[in-house]
Amino acid sequence: AAPAPAMAEAAMAARVPPDEDGDECLPHYRHLLSPDLLAGQVAFITGGGSGIGFRIAELFMRHGCRTVIASRNLQRVSEASKKLVAATGQQCLPLSIDVRQPQTIAAAVDEALQEFKRIDILINGAAGNFLCPASALSFNAFKTVIDIDTMGTFNTSKVLFEKYFRDHGGIIVNITATLSYRGQALQVHAGTAKAAIDAMTRHLAVEWGPNNIRVNSLAPGPISGTEGFRRLGGKSAEQSNQFSVIPLQRAGNKTEIAHSALYLASPLSSYVTGTTLVVDGGSWLTSPNSFSALLGIASSSAK
Ligand code: NAP
Repeated sequence: AAPAPAMAEAAMAARVPPDEDGDECLPHYRHLLSPDLLAGQVAFITGGGSGIGFRIAELFMRHGCRTVIASRNLQRVSEASKKLVAATGQQCLPLSIDVRQPQTIAAAVDEALQEFKRIDILINGAAGNFLCPASALSFNAFKTVIDIDTMGTFNTSKVLFEKYFRDHGGIIVNITATLSYRGQALQVHAGTAKAAIDAMTRHLAVEWGPNNIRVNSLAPGPISGTEGFRRLGGKSAEQSNQFSVIPLQRAGNKTEIAHSALYLASPLSSYVTGTTLVVDGGSWLTSPNSFSALLGIASSSAK
C-alpha cells in the first residue's frame, strides 16, 4: 500500500539534508560521510563568504579541511570566517581578491601558502548574475559577467596551477549552471559565461590530467537560501508552486550542493575528470522557459 501522506512527507524530509536560509552555519549536521574525508587538506574557495560557497566551506571544514575563503569584500569573508571557525573548530583564512585581477589572486595564493604550506582543492564559485533581456543588456554588463565568471575562473585556475598544482597535483571544481542547455531567456550573459567554463573544464582536464589535476564542473539548479535564488525570483516561484514542474518537485538547498562538491573534491571521485555534475533535481529537463514570467521577476527585482 502507498504510504500515508504524513509518513511520505516525513520520509522525504529525512532524505533531504537540512539547510539554513541565510549565511549561517547549520545548527546540527549529521555526517553521511567519514568526518575525516578531507583531513589535512586545504581548500581555496572563491565566493566562499556567501551562499553556496559558504556552505561548501562549512561542510569541507566539517570533514577535516582547512579553508581559504576569498572575495572582494574583506569584511564579508572575515565575518563568514568567524562563523565557520566557531561552528567547525577548523582554521579558515579570509582574504580579499577580485578574480578579474590576477595580481590580487596571486597575492592571496601566496598568503594562503605561507599560512598553510599547501592547497589541495580550488573551488571557483565567484560569479555575478541578474535577469535581463539581451535587448536591454549593455555591452558592458555582458562583459562584466564574462569577466567575473569565465575570466575569473581561468585566472584563478592558472594562478593555482603555476604556484602549486603543477608540481603537487590538485583538484578544481568549477561552479557553473544549466542555463545554456536550453537557452534560458534573460540569461544570455550568465549562460554564455558558464558554458565557456564547462568547456574550460574539459580543456584543462585534458591538459592538466598528467599533472595529477582533476577538473570538473558542478552545475546547480535553483538553490534556496542564496542571493542567486533571491535575484532570480525563487521565493515567489516557491510560493506560487512553480517548482512542481521540476521532477523532484522542489528547489534544492545549499547543503545538497556542498555534498556534491564534497564528492568532486574528495577521493570518492578519484577517477572523475572533465565532466559536469548537474545537481538540479532534473530541473533543466522540464522547467518551462517562460519569457513573460521571467520579465515580471526581472522588473520586480531590478535594483
Ligand atoms: P552569491 O552568494 O552571490 O555568491 C557569489 C560570490 O561571488 C559572492 O561571495 C561574491 O563576494 C563573489 N564575487 C562576485 N564577484 C567577485 C569578484 N569579482 N571577485 C571575487 N569574488 C567575487 O551567489 P550564490 O547564489 O550562492 O552562487 C554561488 C555560485 O553558484 C555562483 O557561481 C553561481 O553562478 C552558481 N549558481 C547558483 C545558483 C543558485 O540558485 N543560487 C544556481 C546555479 C548556479 P563579493 O561580493 O564579496 O566579491
